[in-house]
Amino acid sequence: MSLPLKKQPVLLTGKKQRSIFEFSQNKIKSLPSEIIEIHSDGNEECETIKDEESSAGESFLGCTTVEDVSCPICQLSISHLTIRDRTDHVDTCLVRVSFVEEPLKPEKSPTIKSETKKRKVIPSQPPDEKSKYINKEIKPVEKSGVEIAIPKAITKSKTKRPIPSLKTMTFPIQESPRLIYQVSVDAFCYEPHETISQYFLSHFHSDHYGGISKKWAYERVFKEDIDFENESKYRKIIYCSVITGKLLTLHFSIDPKFIRPLEIDTRYKIKSYTKEIEDGGYESNSETPGLYVTSITANHCPGSVIFLFESIGLDNKRVRVLHCGDFRVNFEILNHSLLKKFTSDCGEYSLDKVYLDTTYMSPSYNFPKQELVCDTVATMFQDLIREEDEEAKTKASLFSTWFGTGTQSRITDFWKQQTTRKKKKFLILVGTYVIGKEKLAITISKRLNCQIYVSNIGSRNKKLDTLKTYNDTYLNSVLTTNDLGDEDSDKSIIHLVPMNIVSSAQELSNYFNHNKYFDNFERCVGLRPTGWSFNPGQQRGIKETEISRNQVQELEQIMEKPPSFNYLSNILSQVTNTQSKGKPDKALYRIYSLPYSEHSSFRELAYFVIFFNIHQVIPTVNCENERSIKAMNNIIEIWEFVRRIRANSIKSTDDDYAEQELIEKIQKLSLDSF
Ligand SMILES: [Zn+2]
Ligand SMILES: [Zn+2]
Repeated sequence: MSLPLKKQPVLLTGKKQRSIFEFSQNKIKSLPSEIIEIHSDGNEECETIKDEESSAGESFLGCTTVEDVSCPICQLSISHLTIRDRTDHVDTCLVRVSFVEEPLKPEKSPTIKSETKKRKVIPSQPPDEKSKYINKEIKPVEKSGVEIAIPKAITKSKTKRPIPSLKTMTFPIQESPRLIYQVSVDAFCYEPHETISQYFLSHFHSDHYGGISKKWAYERVFKEDIDFENESKYRKIIYCSVITGKLLTLHFSIDPKFIRPLEIDTRYKIKSYTKEIEDGGYESNSETPGLYVTSITANHCPGSVIFLFESIGLDNKRVRVLHCGDFRVNFEILNHSLLKKFTSDCGEYSLDKVYLDTTYMSPSYNFPKQELVCDTVATMFQDLIREEDEEAKTKASLFSTWFGTGTQSRITDFWKQQTTRKKKKFLILVGTYVIGKEKLAITISKRLNCQIYVSNIGSRNKKLDTLKTYNDTYLNSVLTTNDLGDEDSDKSIIHLVPMNIVSSAQELSNYFNHNKYFDNFERCVGLRPTGWSFNPGQQRGIKETEISRNQVQELEQIMEKPPSFNYLSNILSQVTNTQSKGKPDKALYRIYSLPYSEHSSFRELAYFVIFFNIHQVIPTVNCENERSIKAMNNIIEIWEFVRRIRANSIKSTDDDYAEQELIEKIQKLSLDSF
């Protein structure tokens, strides 16, 4: 059974604000309500994506006890799952894979069933248990450009749902008579729109591109026409980054003639309100009436961007909208030169609307920065390898404490001693999905100066081509087609493997043994980058719908110091150095889970909203139920309150939740404390 989820209105009214807000003198200029108001349209969410069974469970924001845990993405209760299964569930929800990646095993968890039903499973004879783990040798094929066959005819899609208002960006062209211009963001699974002809895609994840196909573009550009051979009838309608554009062509055979790739940090005029524009737009710094767009890195997955729209009306009225798609706020984004003029410290300009990735919009989602996690893992391997090299194998050394003192060897090694070369220290497996999580592998590779091999098991033939679309000079220089790495080095090597290989020691040892890697590597370490590591000690509920002193204080404390992360207590200690009978050898195989989120933590979101002048924040995730919308709006009000404190517009008051000491602490916060 699948119940359509009703979209709730996202209205940020000031009704619940308490008297303290009247102290604010720094009112940001307000726009006429018909432009900034988001109307409830009652539209249903796209069924092909959000078709999980409706849950009677609480939203994650409404969690009141440790036992009551819901997935922050699909809202289903995951209380009955183990911590690892909860993490797996959330990860699966985060990156919904809509094309065949690997044959599926039956799932244990009933809540993931609805997810797996959607995937296509190739009907085939049961694969040989061993061979499904074995990397095949690949011969590099010289490709000569993309060949995309022109369809003979297209069948109309049956979708009858219109694009919801949350995915429609509306810009005023003039006040009276009222004229507007609209584009859409991440809305591809809806019926063709009457007037929208520019569809923006923030990144290549299926919950955003869902619905896109070769047919999709033909249906919208050619309509009733079938003169597909006529070059002059093609039009650019998909706007995305260069990388996302290449991925659309690689995975879905979307003709580049439909795609308008946008260079990062470049301002384009994509619509003139007075005349036609050729070829989907052009680079421009002009200030004439029209719609301009700049894409800025989203620090999410390769090719992901946030869109800064600037509309200049015929009456010179300016509207600035920032659509964050999915993003992970970092120092680079907070200090971005193109966003600088909107920071609250500059005070010069403000963003009229920000569509915010509210995946982790709760104080309990506070995890270390991605750079810190990647760096810590790299340092860990560096230290482990150095210690062993220096023969510092005393009982107390780092290496012997966590991996044992003896060099691991198999009985057969004795016979091979003469013929085999020296084994490499580590085979490092990094679990990955179709795209994403690459930065972990790159950071380790840079530090250990080692190569990266892309495993091709599990029908992952396109994974290497996918990585090549990134055009990353460093990555291209370390990618190898030899799974053992270069002959003449005793360095380690990194394999990018499907996530299931690093999900259990059994899977890991199958991969290690069936590829006979024991001849070449001393041990195998699997890294599971997880989106969200559940921390039982941190789960707490937000019941308040009004600002309380405690909430402001809690926020200040979270913002003061970033979460720490170190390899002794956060990585190595995950596995104890004990051996149990019948289980894969723990000295040979290790799996570590790493908090590697590609979405902003609560703390990072707070910095973003507080340090930029934003007139209206519009949550784009967890908008399906009223309770979580209320909780999110409450958090946004707290952030706006803190922003006003920082702007000195709220001074000491008698109010019990904003006393002088707290105000001073808040005013001390700066981007340096990020
Ligand atoms: Zn995403
Ligand atoms: Zn997403």
